[in-house]
Amino acid sequence: MSTFAVRCNGLTKRYGEVAAVEGVDLAVQPGEILSIVGPSGSGKTTTLRLIAGFESIDAGEISLRGEVVSGLKTHVPPERRRVGIVFQEHALFPHKTVGENVAFGLHKLGASERSERLREALELVRLTHLERRYPHELSGGEQQRVALARALAPNPAVLLLDEPFSNLDADLRARIRGEVKSILADAGVTVVFVTHDQDDALFMGDRIAIINEGRIEQSGTPEQVFHEPETRFAAGFLGVADFLPAEYSNGTVKTELGSFPMSGESSGLCEVMTRPDDIEVTRSPEGSARVLSRTFQGISDLYVIELPSGAVVRAERPHHKRFEPGDSVRVTVAPHYVARCFAQADGKLMT
Ligand code: ADP
Ligand code: MG
Repeated sequence: MSTFAVRCNGLTKRYGEVAAVEGVDLAVQPGEILSIVGPSGSGKTTTLRLIAGFESIDAGEISLRGEVVSGLKTHVPPERRRVGIVFQEHALFPHKTVGENVAFGLHKLGASERSERLREALELVRLTHLERRYPHELSGGEQQRVALARALAPNPAVLLLDEPFSNLDADLRARIRGEVKSILADAGVTVVFVTHDQDDALFMGDRIAIINEGRIEQSGTPEQVFHEPETRFAAGFLGVADFLPAEYSNGTVKTELGSFPMSGESSGLCEVMTRPDDIEVTRSPEGSARVLSRTFQGISDLYVIELPSGAVVRAERPHHKRFEPGDSVRVTVAPHYVARCFAQADGKLMT
């Protein structure tokens, strides 16, 4: 029997012709935060609704703590799954106080246990002092914490978070997600967090799954999915990436920025990924590359550079090595650069 807190095997959900989720495999360890990140419409909310039991599945299986809750012949109702959920529009009851909102899911408990859980949940999110306020008397971040306390109060085994930061502005969001992460760690709850935002995904997740068109493109630690993308989509979706046309043959991949040895025996047309920190730029009047633009980023500048072929790469350089648009430069790859090569035909990593 699986000891995973959440496990999905071949999870599939269709709406008419559209497969919203197709063959999704996920496994989340107890106490772990899994970030599922993908563009709008990629199947994130559907995946959470299936795990929560709000929707029936068309194929595959979902287990929670080793027990099958969704299968072809099984559908455990949402209220028996011990799953909490926080939606994007955290939908607090406007005419209920903070305390009443948080106690909302505790109506089945006796009075003393109910007030104990309420007290614990408010302490966890550090809002004890605001118990009697109404939602409109709270900041966006405080409202977010109330929604979290409401979901945590019934002591769920798994908490599902659907884009909980997307209504917050950038400053607040960076602060709130830090608070939320530490609250979740204190609660020790298993979390599936979905977002379209790569920064939120990398910040929150112990592990990341990248979803695209209802399928998981790749999953792994934040470092793995960022530094070792297995598909062109994964490479382009997390972090800034540029792709240079290339050709793989005889253990070498040839690009406009040079030839790189490869360990495999693939062959064919492909694209090689570069990230801005892979690219070195030197001033050179005879240089055949040209600076198109510079974006000030504080301690560094981000340059867009056009290579002789017309291909474009981005380079990040320290602010004290300044170039200007129009400058002729020479572009090379940094000594640490390791080429990652994606087949032109299907976008898969070529080894
Ligand atoms: P995300 O949360 O990643 O933006 P969703 O899971 O909401 O994506 O949607 C995935 C796909 O399924 C989309 O193409 C969406 O239009 C479709 N979809 C979602 N819910 C329904 C529904 N109830 N009826 C029909 N199509 C749906
Ligand atoms: Mg969604």
